[in-house]
Amino acid sequence: MSLDPQHGPGVQRYVDASRKLIAEREAALARMRRMKFDTIAVHGLYSMEEALVQNQGAIIEPLYLATSQAYRDADELEAALAYLVPTWCYTRIANPTTYYLEWMMALLEGYRTGSDTSCLVTASGMSAIMSAVDPFLVKQKDGPEQMNFVSSIQLYGGTFQHFAVRKMKERGVECRWVLHPEDIEEWKSKIDGETRFVYMEAPSNPHQSFCDVKALADLAHSWEVPVIFDATCATPALMRPIAHGVDIVVHSLTKSITSGGLAIGGALISRKPIVTKIKNDDPRFKESFAEYVKFWPYRDNGPSPSPFNALFALNDLRTLRSKMDLVSRNCQKVAEFLQTHPRVYQVDYLGLPSYHLHPIAKKYMKLVDSGDGPGNEVNRYGHLMSFRVEGPPANARKAFDSFKIIYRATDLGRIKSVATIPAISTHSQQGEEARRMADIPPQLIRLCVGGEDPDDIIADIDQALNKI
Ligand SMILES: *Cc1c(COP(=O)(O)O)cnc(C)c1O
Repeated sequence: MSLDPQHGPGVQRYVDASRKLIAEREAALARMRRMKFDTIAVHGLYSMEEALVQNQGAIIEPLYLATSQAYRDADELEAALAYLVPTWCYTRIANPTTYYLEWMMALLEGYRTGSDTSCLVTASGMSAIMSAVDPFLVKQKDGPEQMNFVSSIQLYGGTFQHFAVRKMKERGVECRWVLHPEDIEEWKSKIDGETRFVYMEAPSNPHQSFCDVKALADLAHSWEVPVIFDATCATPALMRPIAHGVDIVVHSLTKSITSGGLAIGGALISRKPIVTKIKNDDPRFKESFAEYVKFWPYRDNGPSPSPFNALFALNDLRTLRSKMDLVSRNCQKVAEFLQTHPRVYQVDYLGLPSYHLHPIAKKYMKLVDSGDGPGNEVNRYGHLMSFRVEGPPANARKAFDSFKIIYRATDLGRIKSVATIPAISTHSQQGEEARRMADIPPQLIRLCVGGEDPDDIIADIDQALNKI
């Protein structure tokens, strides 16, 4: 790092001393990049040397609850606050426990994608989404006043609200909705020279809508526009959009990643570099977007996670691959059962060959490090599905009210099966018209199948449907 002449020789000594630490971290990163997915998920960047030298041999990452870091003297303070040496400083800016989670997510999301990645962890999925989109919606010095972004309409309810109300209504930013994200022609008709970013969620919640990820990235890039992709329901165990050209991935860590259900969190992972024509004084904006966000808007806006939550997420991540395999297989079995049930008129699950998006999902949803390796992995479609109950909405409510082990909650991604009726919960805010456009009738039950024995879940659903 170049040193401002105003810094004295004492500061320089700290900068020199930190080179060893930086080199060690780089070596640890390079070592982990050569490991397989499960090994990265179990160890991340927390090494045996770190455990033995700095942490009394503790085999699990330490939980740093202290708000602030102390420094040895004025020189170290000066070096740290000018970010000339690695430092965490203050938990709103960075935190050592959160740091381990950030690197874990960067490594997993970048796994075998051919790209280097950086990651920022935030307090919630929504704050990760806000942190990802806001830097693109800034006034450009000599650019046009007009700006728009193009987004699939099949979004998590909170994201829909954020775009429709916080961005369009309150800030006057134009959002162009794509009603059928699987249709690349529709995207083509909406992107233009004033488009700041393209936004996709897949598989979407609750619809499991999907798109041709690579075709979308190629199209956006032909306009020098980045793709921001919410891959919460896939997790890096089943799909890593960066491998297909996506620039920025966002996650609600709250869901399948922290399947134990004890913490809220979000993550933003970016490819190095991203495609964008937005001008920014900091070269990191393009070269390492997640680091840019962490360095500037994040510390000013303050969506930092509690280190407690970071540790819960980190701990649940260790078994992500085998867990996503298990819950996907369970969900497949439940979906196949529901398809034959006389009281159900439609089952939407990407794993069902009859589902119209099955062929496109089959191309992208694959269990990492499975089957015969790259190109021949087995397909797994996640644990989110929905089904529609015959008759008036009261029937769906009756069945829903009769579940005995499936929890009624506006939640998903759990190791326990959970169900909700989106029209009266997650998607109640957006109104009838928007729900009609997004095809979310009141007969639709969203089900996220957990790690229970699938036969017990099937029995619970069967007895509930037979109550109608
Ligand atoms: C839950 C969810 C979010 C929002 O995440 P929070 O952690 O609840 O803020 C965003 N996207 C998807 C797909 C989600 O399921």
